[in-house]
Amino acid sequence: MAAQRDYYQTLGVAETATTDEIKKAFRRLAKQHHPDRNPNNPQAAERFKEISEAHDVLSDSDKRKRYDQLRRYGAFAGPDASPFSQRGARRGPGPQGTGGGPGDSGDFDISDLGGLGDLFSSIFGRRGTGREAEPEEVETSITIPFRVAALGGQVPITLAMPEVCPTCGGSGAAKGATVNTCPECKGRGTVSFGQGGFAVNRPCPVCRGKGTVPSQRCPTCQGSGEVRVEKRINVDIPPGTEDGARLRLKNQGPKGRGDLIVVIHVAPDRFFRREGLDVIGVVPINVAQAMLGSRIKVKTVDGKSVVLRIPPGTQHGQRFRVPRVGIEKNGRRGDMYVEAHVTLPEKLSAEEQEAVKSFAEKTGLKY
Ligand SMILES: [Zn+2]
Ligand SMILES: [Zn+2]
Repeated sequence: MAAQRDYYQTLGVAETATTDEIKKAFRRLAKQHHPDRNPNNPQAAERFKEISEAHDVLSDSDKRKRYDQLRRYGAFAGPDASPFSQRGARRGPGPQGTGGGPGDSGDFDISDLGGLGDLFSSIFGRRGTGREAEPEEVETSITIPFRVAALGGQVPITLAMPEVCPTCGGSGAAKGATVNTCPECKGRGTVSFGQGGFAVNRPCPVCRGKGTVPSQRCPTCQGSGEVRVEKRINVDIPPGTEDGARLRLKNQGPKGRGDLIVVIHVAPDRFFRREGLDVIGVVPINVAQAMLGSRIKVKTVDGKSVVLRIPPGTQHGQRFRVPRVGIEKNGRRGDMYVEAHVTLPEKLSAEEQEAVKSFAEKTGLKY
C-alpha cells in the first residue's frame, strides 16, 4: 500500500502539471506497471490501480478541481493533516445547494462535500477496513509435465507474496514508537463525510482504517505493515489433473490468511495424450509389422512395459486397447489405447525397389 494517497505523488507530477504532463506521466507508469507485463505480481496490479485512479481524477478538469479542494483541506496529507471532519463540525452546517461552489480563497464550505460522493467512492472505495477483514487471494499459473498431471505429484513454485512485516508485526510502527489513537477518526477507523442525507462512512484516510497511528513509521515496511517475501510452496498435484484446473491452496496466499489459486496448464507429451481417464499412446510401426503383424513393447503412462500383439493388416491410426492402465482418479481407472502409426521407408535402393515392384505386381497394386 502506498504510504500516501496523493494523486500528484502517485503520478510523480507537480501540482501545477498540465493535463498533457499528467497524461504523459500516466502512460509511462501504466506501461511499467501494467498487469500484463507483471504477471503474478499483485503489488504491480495494486500500483496500476492507483495510477489509473490518479489519472482518472487528475486528467478530468472537473474532478481535479474538486480533488484539489479536498487536498487543500488536508484529507490526503498524512497523520499531521488537519482533520477535515473536525473543521466541518466547527463550522457547522452550511447552506445546502449552493451552486457557486468555493471561491478562490482556497477554503470551502463542508456542505460542498455533499456533491463529492462519486469522487470519494473512487478515492476510498476499495481500501481500508474492508481489506483487513476480507483475506485477499492471489492467482498464479504453472505448466506441469503431462505425466505429473496424469499420475499426480508435487511441483515447487516460488512466489513473491505479501507477508506481515516481521519488524513491526504488521502494526506499521517503528520500534519504541508510541501507538496513538488516530486523532482523525478517534480510533473508529471510519470517518463520515458530508451531512444530512449526504453523510457517508469511509475508511479513515489518516490511519487507513486501523484506528491508530504510530509516532514513527516502521523502517522496514514504511508503515504499511506488510513486506513482500519470496515464498517457496510445494503444490500437490492430484492424479488425473486436467489442463485448466484451478487448485485452491488454503491460507497459502497473502499474509498466510488469503488463499493461493494455482491454475494448471498441462504441457503436451511427445507420446501420450488424454481423453478423460483414457490415455492415447502413439506407437510407430513399420510397414512389415503393419502387413505381417508383430509383437511390440509399449510403455504405459506410469512407466511399465506392456507387450502388445499387432495383427497382420494393421491400418495406420488403428487403436488397440490395453485395459486398466490409464489414469486413476477417485477409484476409477481408465484404459490405454495404443494408436499404431505406420511409417514408410523414405528411400529405397534399386534392389528394394525391385522387391516392392514384384510385390505390387503379385498383389495387383497399380502404381
Ligand atoms: Zn483514523
Ligand atoms: Zn513494518
